[in-house]
Amino acid sequence: MEHDEVLELLPAYVDQELGVSETIQIERHLNNCFECQQDFAQQSQLSAELKSAAFHFEAPAGLAQRISEALPKERSTFVAPTAKRWQPGERFGWHLDRFNVGAFLATLAAALWSVSMFLSLPSAQDQLTEEIVASHVRSLQVDHLSDVISTDRHTVKPWFNGKLNFSPPVFDLAPQGYPLTGGRLDYINGRPVAALIYHHQLHPINLYIWPTSGHDAVPRTETRQGYHLAHWTISGMTYWAVSDVAVVNLTTFGTLLTSQIKQAG
Ligand SMILES: [Zn+2]
Repeated sequence: MEHDEVLELLPAYVDQELGVSETIQIERHLNNCFECQQDFAQQSQLSAELKSAAFHFEAPAGLAQRISEALPKERSTFVAPTAKRWQPGERFGWHLDRFNVGAFLATLAAALWSVSMFLSLPSAQDQLTEEIVASHVRSLQVDHLSDVISTDRHTVKPWFNGKLNFSPPVFDLAPQGYPLTGGRLDYINGRPVAALIYHHQLHPINLYIWPTSGHDAVPRTETRQGYHLAHWTISGMTYWAVSDVAVVNLTTFGTLLTSQIKQAG
């Protein structure tokens, strides 16, 4: 068997889906081909990880009941073997009602599909994080970082007047190495929000602000698609900072800003 063909069949080989003859040919090739050996090792590891407990999800309570409630009830899909006795001249003593089997399988497939969609749905927090990273990336891509370009917070803060139904706290952190460079209106989590733009060295930091009824919370960080995020809540406002600066810089930024906001009371 040729190298390319082996590479193509490796996933099926890893999953033990091949026939004896193909399996033997692949094993023969694997003995002599370093590249395929590496590929095989990688795919085996991935396959093992996918089978590990971390990727198994418990179906939520009540799901089985919801599915059975959604399935058609009018008549039994299968004609049970005992339901119909063998009659002379009939080929089969029992049969499946083909049409209903099709309908049943289609419903089952639809139900399973919705279950898998349900299980793969990101949590609200995940969605928000993704939305913020997407907004950050977009603001850099289309060169639309700022609607108002200013390093003066007394210019940036009033710019939001009449554009939002809240007044975002605006502080310049230039002396600490995080100069304010502008502001922008954005739309996150289904609402208009303030986006303040700071820089640390050459890295832009987007800071999203909107009101919340949540309690105060200290900065928490996470990493998504190579970007770092820090979010915290203080005095009825929620803050999301996102940037490609180091996590430690983002935490420092959040801490500095929090102390400024607290000082301003
Ligand atoms: Zn090979």
